[in-house]
Amino acid sequence: MSSTRGLVASSLRSSGVDGPGNRYVLFLQGCNFDCVGCHNPTTIPRYERQRDPPFGDWRTVDDVLGELRSLRSFLSGITVSGGEATLQLDFLVDLFGAIKADPVLHGLTTLVDTNGTLDESGWKRLAPVLDGAMVDLKAWSPDRHYTLTGSTPWAVRESILWLAARDLLTEVRLLLIAGLNDSEEELSGWASFVADAAPGVPGRVLAFRHHGTRQAARNLAETSEAAVARGESILVAAGVPVIREVAMGSRAVSPTEAPAARVGRRAQPEPFPASTQ
Ligand code: SF4
Repeated sequence: MSSTRGLVASSLRSSGVDGPGNRYVLFLQGCNFDCVGCHNPTTIPRYERQRDPPFGDWRTVDDVLGELRSLRSFLSGITVSGGEATLQLDFLVDLFGAIKADPVLHGLTTLVDTNGTLDESGWKRLAPVLDGAMVDLKAWSPDRHYTLTGSTPWAVRESILWLAARDLLTEVRLLLIAGLNDSEEELSGWASFVADAAPGVPGRVLAFRHHGTRQAARNLAETSEAAVARGESILVAAGVPVIREVAMGSRAVSPTEAPAARVGRRAQPEPFPASTQ
């Protein structure tokens, strides 16, 4: 039993694009970045506000466990995203810990989709109940990273190094935006860092789209397929395996580049216990 509360922006009962398998996804409210290309800017405000409708709703760990139990036979795992999921670390640690301790839910894999700003002490708290982290590295150079997010990249790079060293890094993501982080120098720097810091961990190049963004971002060009392919080729040349998006949100790992999609330490979700199916 846990009454620890999290401020939740929204949830998805089923997703095939937020990690391997069919996943329950929880989007937590609040972010410490303010990204130019954010596709979900209503999740950025960090605190509940008197607004109609309000930002997010409070849910307890027990609330989420109840929903997961009702869906268990269809799920491979849970992904907590945002906003920035790790800003609500107490809730995240308690939730993943409760899942791992639950006789029905313990086989679900626990992933976090993060901007990578959690510090080492936070990762140490989360690691025992975490199966993997998908980390965004928005740009290589500090000035471009600051332009894109309002913050420097140092904490993100530290997180990538820390997680990779413990086989907890599932993938590193790059939202490609023309004119901001798509230069040869930017992409080569990004790719070289990831190849060295996290050998064998795949990268994923995402296309910037106008859908969901703020008005100011509508002046930026949407990313072409050719630009994504160019970015991927730079990653591959540097030794970073690439995960490619394919139609209808499913995924493929380029066969010459990555052996399999990773889920940190636990390679596959555990099967649902026969006695409770
Ligand atoms: S880190 Fe993610 S949620 Fe936060 S502002 Fe950037 S894109 Fe939006």
